[in-house]
Amino acid sequence: MPPAAAGAGAPRPVSTEGVETDRLPSAWRRRTLWSALTALVVALLVTLVWLAGRYEASQVQSRLERDTADAVGDIRAALSHNVQSLQALQFNDPTPAAWSMAAAALLREHRELVRIEWRDSNHRPRLFADTPYRPSVFDRLGRDSVQTEVRQTCTTARRLSAPAYSSSYFVPLTDGLGIEVMELCMPLVTTGVVMGYLVATYSLQDMLDDLVGRQLTRSQEVSFTEGDGTRLAVRGTARRANRVFTAHHLLDLPGTTLVLRMDSWRGAPDLFPNVLTALVTAMSIALVSILVLLSKDMRRRLKAERDLADALAFRKAMEDSLVTGLRARDLHGRITYVNPAFCQMVGFTADELLGQSVHAPYWPPELADEYMKRQAIRLAGTSPPREGFESVFMHKDGTRFPVLIIEAPLINAQGAQTGWMSAFLDIREQRRVEELSRASQERLQATARLAMVGEMASLLSHELNQPLAAMSSYATGSLNLLRAGMHTPADIELAMHRIAQQAERAGKIIKSVHDFVRRRDQARETVPPQALVDAILPLINLQARKLGVQVQIQLAPGLPKVLCDRTMVEQVLLNLVRNGMQAMDRPDIRQRVLTLAVRQEHGDGRWLVFSVADVGPGIAPEVEQQLFTPFFTTKAEGMGLGLSLCRTVIEQHGGMLAFEPHQPQGTVFSFTLPAGN
Ligand code: ADP
Repeated sequence: MPPAAAGAGAPRPVSTEGVETDRLPSAWRRRTLWSALTALVVALLVTLVWLAGRYEASQVQSRLERDTADAVGDIRAALSHNVQSLQALQFNDPTPAAWSMAAAALLREHRELVRIEWRDSNHRPRLFADTPYRPSVFDRLGRDSVQTEVRQTCTTARRLSAPAYSSSYFVPLTDGLGIEVMELCMPLVTTGVVMGYLVATYSLQDMLDDLVGRQLTRSQEVSFTEGDGTRLAVRGTARRANRVFTAHHLLDLPGTTLVLRMDSWRGAPDLFPNVLTALVTAMSIALVSILVLLSKDMRRRLKAERDLADALAFRKAMEDSLVTGLRARDLHGRITYVNPAFCQMVGFTADELLGQSVHAPYWPPELADEYMKRQAIRLAGTSPPREGFESVFMHKDGTRFPVLIIEAPLINAQGAQTGWMSAFLDIREQRRVEELSRASQERLQATARLAMVGEMASLLSHELNQPLAAMSSYATGSLNLLRAGMHTPADIELAMHRIAQQAERAGKIIKSVHDFVRRRDQARETVPPQALVDAILPLINLQARKLGVQVQIQLAPGLPKVLCDRTMVEQVLLNLVRNGMQAMDRPDIRQRVLTLAVRQEHGDGRWLVFSVADVGPGIAPEVEQQLFTPFFTTKAEGMGLGLSLCRTVIEQHGGMLAFEPHQPQGTVFSFTLPAGN
C-alpha cells in the first residue's frame, strides 16, 4: 500500500469512515452547546422581561405612594381650611340666627360636613345645622347615642387647646344603609375660659369624594381603612384585575389617626404596560429571531461542510484508485502534490518527493541536464504539447522506465495560474506489447518476403537459364575451336569475355534476390525515390519479362528524398507491382502496361505519392471489402498477406495506402511517405 500523498495545496486526506465517526461526537457537542446557548438566552430574556416588569411595577407602586401622600396632604389641607371656616362661624359672638345662616352656608359649601353644632361648656347643644345634601344623619340613632364620643373629643380638644378629632364610627341611616363619620371638636375660648364647643361631623365618604383630587380617584380606588384592613369608606370602584398595587398612608389628626389606602389596578391588564418592557420584549424577540436565523445558517454551513467532506473523500478515493500518476508543481517547480500511483511508480514516498524542485530524485542522472532545461522552458511559461510527450524516469531501485507525460497549467478558482499539473502513464507494458507486435510483424514480413522469393525461384531459374545457356554455348564453342585448332587468340578472348559478361549478369540477378532477402537495417533514412525503384527494378523486370508486361517508370523531376525504412518500402513497392502484374496475367489482356510513378503531393509538398497502376480487370466489390484482411487471397498459391502488411508498413511511416479504379481499366494502388530533408 503506498503512503497517502499530501501536499501544501493538496486536500487533507479524509477517510469516509473517519468522517462518520468524527461527526457523531462533534454533532452531539454542537447540539449541547446550542441547547446551552438557547437556554441561557431564554433565561436572560425571561430575567430581563421580569426585571423590566418589576421595574415597571415599582414605578407604579412609587407613583401610587406619591399619590397617596398627595391625597393625605389634600385632605389635611382641606381639614385645616375647614377648621378656619368653622372658627369664622364664631367670630364676634354671632346671634343664633346669624350663626345658623353661616353654618348652613358652610354646610352647602362643604359636602364632607354633615352637621355643625354649637355646644355650651357642658356639652349641651345650643344650636346645630344639618347638611342640605342628605336627610339628617342622626335621625335614626339620635344624637345622644354618640354623646360619649363627642365629650371625649372635646375633652381632648380642651386639653390640647386646639381642635381635636374623634375616632370614626358607624351611623346607621333611616334608609337601611349607614355612613362612617368622625367628629371634630373645637373649644370656644374667650379670655382663657372655655365658653363652649363647636362640633362638626365629617362623613368619611364625602371627605373622600370632595377632598381628594379628582385625578387621583379616577384611576384608583381610595379608601379609609381600619388597622385590620376593613374599609370604612371607599371612593372609586375596584375593577377586576390580575394585579393590584396598594399603598397605605397615615392621616395623623389631633386625637385620631386614619389610614388612607389607595389601590391601583392600572397596568395589570396591559400586555406591555410601559415602553421599557415593550422594548426589552421586542429586543428579546429580535434576539430569538437572530438565534433562529443563526442556527439555520449554521445548519446550512454544516450541510455544506458535510457535502464538501464527501466531495473531498470522493476525490481522494478517486485519486488513490487511479493508476495514472499525478503530480502538481508550483511556479517555482517545487512539487506540491503527488498521488499514491505516482509514489508507487517511482518508488519514493510522498514525503521524499514533496518540496523537491530541480534534480527530482526520479530523474536518471544521465538525463538530468536535459530535464532541467525542459523544466526551465516550462517555468518560463511555454505550454507543453497537449497530446503529451515521452520521457524516461528512474525508479528508486535504479531501473529506468518510459513514461508518457501530459502536462497542463494549474489554474486556481480566481483564474490565476499557480503551477503545473502533470499526469504520468507508465508505458513499459505498452512498449513491450509494441515490441512484441513489431517483432511478430517483422517475422511475418520475413515470411512474406521468403514466400515471394520462393515464388520468384522459378522466374530466377528461367532468368538464370539464359546466361548459363549462353555461357555453356560460349564454352562449348571455344572448346570446339580449341580442339579443331582453328582458333585465333582473339576468338577465345571474345568467348571468354562473353562468358564473363554472362556470369556477371547471372551474379547480378542472384545478388538482387540476396539483397532483398538479407537486407534488414531498421533505421529510417532519407533515400532518393530513384534509389528505391532501382533496387527492385531487376526483380520487377524478371517477372515482367515472364508475364510479358511492359513496365513504365515515371519519376517526376526534382523529387525530394523520402524518409523511410528502405527495405520495407521496397517490399511494399514490389508487392504492389507484383499484384498489378499478376492481375494482368490473363489471356484477354494483350497490352499489359504497368506504370510505377512517384510525384510530390500537391499542397505543401511534405509528402511523396508512390502509385502503381495496372490495366487489369480491377477489383470486384466483394473482394474490395476484404482486401486488407490478412490471409485473404483469390489466388491459388497466394498467401493473402501482401496488402495487409503493406498497409501496416505505410501507416507506421505516418502515410496512407489507398486504391482506386484506373481509367479506362485496371486499378491504381498509391501510398504516401513523408519527404525527408
Ligand atoms: P496475395 O497477393 O497473396 O493474394 P494480397 O494481400 O497482396 O495477397 O492481395 C489480396 C487480393 O487482392 C489478391 O488475391 C487479389 O484478389 C486482390 N488484388 C490485389 N491487387 C490487385 C490488383 N492490382 N488488381 C486486382 N486485384 C488485386
